[in-house]
Amino acid sequence: MTYLIKPHLHRTYPTVRSAKGIYVYDTDGKKYLDGCSGAVTANLGHGVQEIIMAMNKQAEQVAFVYRSQFTSEVAEKLAEALNKQIGYSTYWTFLVNSGSEATETAMKIAIQYWQEQGRKGKNKILSRWLSYHGITIGALSLSGHPMRRARFVPLLEDFPTVSPPYCFRCPYGLTYPSCQWRCADELETAIIRTGAEHIAAFIAEPIIGAAGAAITPPDGYYERIYDICRRYDILFIADEVMTGLGRTGKIMGLDHWNVQADIIALGKGLGAGYTPIAATLASQRVMEPIINGSGVIMSGHTLSANPLSASVALAVLKYIEQHHLVQRAHEIGTYLFMKLRNLQKQFAWIGDVRGKGLLLGIEFVVAGKEMVPSDLAFTDLVVTVAQQNGLLVYPAAAGNGKDGAAIIIAPPLTIERSQVDELIDLLEQTFREVQRRCPVILKR
Ligand code: PMP
Repeated sequence: MTYLIKPHLHRTYPTVRSAKGIYVYDTDGKKYLDGCSGAVTANLGHGVQEIIMAMNKQAEQVAFVYRSQFTSEVAEKLAEALNKQIGYSTYWTFLVNSGSEATETAMKIAIQYWQEQGRKGKNKILSRWLSYHGITIGALSLSGHPMRRARFVPLLEDFPTVSPPYCFRCPYGLTYPSCQWRCADELETAIIRTGAEHIAAFIAEPIIGAAGAAITPPDGYYERIYDICRRYDILFIADEVMTGLGRTGKIMGLDHWNVQADIIALGKGLGAGYTPIAATLASQRVMEPIINGSGVIMSGHTLSANPLSASVALAVLKYIEQHHLVQRAHEIGTYLFMKLRNLQKQFAWIGDVRGKGLLLGIEFVVAGKEMVPSDLAFTDLVVTVAQQNGLLVYPAAAGNGKDGAAIIIAPPLTIERSQVDELIDLLEQTFREVQRRCPVILKR
């Protein structure tokens, strides 16, 4: 008998025993190659001694203090280290415990930024209709993820959304560059329709993760988005929960383009799975009216900025720098991308391979380019067969968010080339078996 609520109560899950590097082992002795860093989180791989030692040391010293009673040296150092990593601009750090809290805090800071200047009507946040920003009610309100929203729609804010920069399935049937970034210009239309005086910010994942399997916009898109935000006095929030801290081959996902966000949400890779920690970073420009005004950011959680989690994140940042993991994600990612493209040639139902660095997505198709119908539960089949074969891959939505099937491949940034080859062998084996179990996918 078990009383632990797992994601799906009608399924059985293997029980984990241990994990080291890019491998996870269950209690039956089975080995899994972690091809997606859990949920694109274990960016350094498992069991890294430097992180464990930093955690132990901090736990001995002080694990918890309440943020309204004390600050800590380690949390102060973390805020400094984040600025050093980003390099180009000053950001203030608000520590939280999950990506959802980070995006929800970003919403609140954006709204507060305008309130402090007497513009109380600016409180809507625009987003894209394929996106994922978190599971709490505020963050879910921003998220274009039909499956995760469905049960709670009556509770969600009905914020306006715009089209994603989804070139593989351009909502306008156009192609880049002759499209002239029509999808970016849709933001301007939405702002005019809603009224800029009602809008605090636009939020976007630099590369769309769970809701789009690494949908990557064409060059020029973010520059245009940023220009629209500036022209209409709207803040730009980058949700870097999945893309941040080296995952895409740059320290921030948005660094692939010539744009700097006003507010950044970080999560996943910040604690790299060693502890729950996330952060909302607000630029000097955003902080100024708050500093000169109430001086308070009206948010916070009991465990925010606890020294134990801060020590982990600080050690993670140090490790990323010392082991040149950002550059590594770019190099190994280029190799993995090439290998996935080769695999695409073997399977007609691989429609698209996309992404940057070690955040890569595979979108599946039927009959040329049609969306895989949701009743095939195809993503689920791929993920399940992969896990049976000893490979972990991350399920993602694609298409219209309901129909469409996709996975994300995002191994730890520490993966070796030979291990990429091993990942590809396991994936090929998985795809062969999927094809055998679901022959309808071959219908062309
Ligand atoms: N934003 C993005 C871009 C994410 O990918 C996720 C998690 N998949 C979240 C926010 C929410 O993070 P968490 O699950 O830690 O609350």
